[in-house]
Amino acid sequence: MVILILLSGILIDLDHLLANPIFDSQRCSIDYHPLHSYWAIAIYITLLLFKKTRLLSIAFIIHIVADLADCWLLALQSK
Ligand SMILES: [Zn+2]
Repeated sequence: MVILILLSGILIDLDHLLANPIFDSQRCSIDYHPLHSYWAIAIYITLLLFKKTRLLSIAFIIHIVADLADCWLLALQSK
């Protein structure tokens, strides 16, 4: 089960690979990649309500929060 959570955390990062360039440290992932859009985040929060998908949802939300923290750091740096 823990493996599944770790894998899903990596899985959500696959949409970073769809972006061009693949890695850009100056780019905020949130609302840029399809799996990081606001409707995707809304789905992750909805998954939290169901026992079966709760662990998966937590893995996704942890990823989003980590990316969000990156965005905040970027915003601080650019000022
Ligand atoms: Zn990400």
